[in-house]
Amino acid sequence: MMDKQSINMLKGVGPKKAALLKKLNVETIEDLCYLFPRTYQDRSKRKHIAELVDGDSVTVHATVLLIVKGRYTRRKQRMRLLVDDGTGKMEIIFFNAAYLANIFVVGDSYDFYGKVDVINGKVSMTHPDFTSAQAEPQAAIMPIYPLVSGLSQKDIRKWQQEALMQLCDTDAEYLPSDLIASHNLCGETYAFQNIHFPQDRQKLAEARYRLVFDELFLLQLGLFYIKEGIATQQNGIPISKDIDAAEYITSFPYTLTGAQQRTIKRITADMASARPMNRLMQGDVGSGKTVVAQVALYRTAKSGFQGVLMAPTEILAKQHYENLTRSYKPFGIKTAFLSGSLTVAERKRVLTEIETGAVDIVIGTHAVIQPDVIFRNLALVITDEQHRFGVKQRMTLAQKGKNPHILVMTATPIPRSLAVILYGDLDISVLDELPPGRQTIKTIVLKPSQREEAYNFIFSQLEKGRQAYVVTPLIEDSETLDIHSAESVYQNLCERFSPYRVALLHGAMKQSEKDEIMKSFYEGETQALVSTVVIEVGINVPNATVMLIENCERFGLAQLHQLRGRVGRGSERSYCFLINEGQSDTAVQRAEIMASTSDGFVIAEKDLELRGPGEIFGSRQHGVPQLRIADLSKHLKLLDPIKEEAKRVIVEDPSLSSPKYKPLKNKLKNFFPETGKDFLIIT
Ligand code: ADP
Ligand code: MG
Repeated sequence: MMDKQSINMLKGVGPKKAALLKKLNVETIEDLCYLFPRTYQDRSKRKHIAELVDGDSVTVHATVLLIVKGRYTRRKQRMRLLVDDGTGKMEIIFFNAAYLANIFVVGDSYDFYGKVDVINGKVSMTHPDFTSAQAEPQAAIMPIYPLVSGLSQKDIRKWQQEALMQLCDTDAEYLPSDLIASHNLCGETYAFQNIHFPQDRQKLAEARYRLVFDELFLLQLGLFYIKEGIATQQNGIPISKDIDAAEYITSFPYTLTGAQQRTIKRITADMASARPMNRLMQGDVGSGKTVVAQVALYRTAKSGFQGVLMAPTEILAKQHYENLTRSYKPFGIKTAFLSGSLTVAERKRVLTEIETGAVDIVIGTHAVIQPDVIFRNLALVITDEQHRFGVKQRMTLAQKGKNPHILVMTATPIPRSLAVILYGDLDISVLDELPPGRQTIKTIVLKPSQREEAYNFIFSQLEKGRQAYVVTPLIEDSETLDIHSAESVYQNLCERFSPYRVALLHGAMKQSEKDEIMKSFYEGETQALVSTVVIEVGINVPNATVMLIENCERFGLAQLHQLRGRVGRGSERSYCFLINEGQSDTAVQRAEIMASTSDGFVIAEKDLELRGPGEIFGSRQHGVPQLRIADLSKHLKLLDPIKEEAKRVIVEDPSLSSPKYKPLKNKLKNFFPETGKDFLIIT
């Protein structure tokens, strides 16, 4: 068990330093152990003063000849040391560090580690790290920690040493020994010691391997554990297989794809079981996820239960609402819409209808998870574009029923390996087949100088009766960024595309305004829509055949893919122009990837390669623990054996309550953040 004691226990940590440490998310001694070095300095490289070259980062062992204190400017105090190592002399400079004068002693020798400046033959180091040769020997590889101002590397190293001492005292391995042996792992304490103060490169590598393994293993095991907990709940709400949706399905103006049929079958089987369904449906933009959801909701309503569909934006929720209401009407299924934009009276009416069961299917935004939304008998919960929601929201919604079935949908293609981790608590279905007749979207990367040509082309599409999107990264012109804003592009295009009508849509607008604008675009009253990324998710206007994206270098690949998916939804050939103003190689490379493939999964893999998983794991709150040392883009290879191991453990002891796995379970509870703990209570 690691040390949960407050960081104040450490020597030299008072309230002030503790507050600074908190900025680094360090509050306990355990947290400190997990504050891993961001890099290391290899101090084994030593040189004599005579050999030094400008720009060297080296260790020099030299004797102090002279200490000179003095004023440098009115504000800056400067202290200089003159040191000698027998081959030459070097000046050591410290600013505003008068206290050091009492530390150095003329005639004593020290190690100085730092960057060397050689100017006109004069050798100097400014603010080097230093140690007295009499003090304990310095490690060859020194850790460099992330810092905030007010803390020094020295501070952290000192505390880290102390924390490690405590750790050694409480040394107890939480992983079973057979597991350690079969994966060739070093001990946990050894790993912590060597990640912070590695004795050599080899030991650092062993330490890192162990800690990466632990992180991925705990993550995977925790997700299996959660899933196990959900799966073993026996009190779900079975929706009979006998409910026949055939007539409903034939009411669609198309036949279902094979992938849609397969997924509907799986869902039907899931929901017929006494165990609640917990399934992720992943499908590229336009793969037709909505109808699959519709069928599941249809069967729920026809069994006399309620269902809910939650979407991340008002625009999308509204579109789903209109679509579902139209399709359910002939079958006597009642729908209701719930969002923050309802009036108090409307909301009250809808809430009553939901509570009394007058409504079968509720479609809405986050508004559906408000505490005052009470269902009569909720049996199916669906979240659309799951990547926009956290696990917590999904669970909050699910708590509005008695273990309802859960279906989450996402169009953010996530490489399979990652999806398994990210959604490891879910079964996964993939809609890997687009409806027939879909045109691939022709994507063309343009230089800013080719913008006029693109405008000409868009104009010719408008003349053919088609519609167009123009997407920009910002709403208004910015003083600091040279970016085409929605406002300025809109101004320009109103004239440029006349007599066709251009509209402007962005996130800062009032909801009613946005609705109005979207409506007139659906209905073809406006032909071109200038917009920020608010149109990213789910919007469906099949007559729109061309999209131009300004400053494409400012969007993630996955996001560009989502945006592009707004066109190519009808039978007409569609086009996407990407205007790249990015100069870097990566910007060019990224734009080219977009032009070369329309496969969301390929794009996701590339995005992962180019940007790392931060985009997927970092900023968005998935309820998945923050990874502190594992990097999924680098450590993907490790995942398979780790997953197997986690599976083996959970099969052997599903509740992790045997003496063998008890310490592991404790570790797991610490590892998962709040949301995870909620789940862990389930069992
Ligand atoms: P997404 O998976 O991106 O949410 P949608 O469910 O919005 O996709 O479907 C995209 C479009 O494809 C919609 O206009 C829908 O009516 C249509 N569609 C769905 N399934 C089929 C199908 N099997 N054949 C033809 N068109 C389909
Ligand atoms: Mg959709």
